[in-house]
Amino acid sequence: MLNKYFFFLTLSLLLFSCKEKEVLKDNCLDNGASQNQSFENRKVLIIGIDGFRSDCMNDSISPFLYSLSQDPKCFYNSAHQVENVTVSGPNWTSILSGVHYEKHLASNTFSEYKVEEFPHFYKYIEEANSNLNTVSICNWAAVNVFIAYTYGDYCPLVSYDDLTVNNWANDIILGNDSVEADLLFLHFDNLDHEGHAFGYSPEIPEYAQAVNTMDGYVASLMASINQKRNEGEDWLVLVVSDHGGEGTDHANGLGNSNIDRTICFVDHPSLNFKSNYPSKQVDYVPTIFQFLGIESAAFSCQQDGVSLLE
Ligand SMILES: [Zn+2]
Repeated sequence: MLNKYFFFLTLSLLLFSCKEKEVLKDNCLDNGASQNQSFENRKVLIIGIDGFRSDCMNDSISPFLYSLSQDPKCFYNSAHQVENVTVSGPNWTSILSGVHYEKHLASNTFSEYKVEEFPHFYKYIEEANSNLNTVSICNWAAVNVFIAYTYGDYCPLVSYDDLTVNNWANDIILGNDSVEADLLFLHFDNLDHEGHAFGYSPEIPEYAQAVNTMDGYVASLMASINQKRNEGEDWLVLVVSDHGGEGTDHANGLGNSNIDRTICFVDHPSLNFKSNYPSKQVDYVPTIFQFLGIESAAFSCQQDGVSLLE
């Protein structure tokens, strides 16, 4: 009798736990994504700067970015935590997929990248509203070749130098180019090249000069964005980086070194951001989805970050 009781108890527990799993799995099914119609006209610019070490964000080296970062309405974190693997491939993939390296497994060669399970966030944007134009223009073409190309509307597979990326982006934002973008991702790489060649530090003139040049690019992009904002367009701007650096390298960060920390800056004229929040690479996609009113059960089930918007 006792045995029989335990048999039924075990059976019902088993059935119950299977049911629980089933329910969870159903909620995670990829049923496509949707967008709140009232957010359809919003636009996003992501300025990706490869190898930006946080302590170069100051009044003398990067005066424009520094003044933006001091605006209390913006989100700014000078101790933005990068992934445990402190090279470019893993970090750009986390920034663009919203999940940690331990899940997506993208290295610098991308050979192990689980791209279908953890795709570029443009996949969900296009599912939610295919009228949105998703564009990615890169100096390091690998970002488009391995992460963006399959999912975005316009993701050229060649490398463009930083000046070309900047000038082209300004033309796109201002409506002076045949390419139109509602979401525009830019990747700038010269700063990382100077870090590898001369050293990543505000004390290294070549690296500091490259930060200063980048500061000018961001200033010109923000001027274009503000012109369009004044004409009624609603842009969210994110300035992101994949890693910092030390000496002439950025491999093997220890979790609390200059390699592991970079900047995170998010700007919108009226929305409120979290304050003093320890931002991570995986927080950008949830922030963009909240801004655009994008919902995806499949993404929600696997996301590792949170939105930086309140
Ligand atoms: Zn990098």
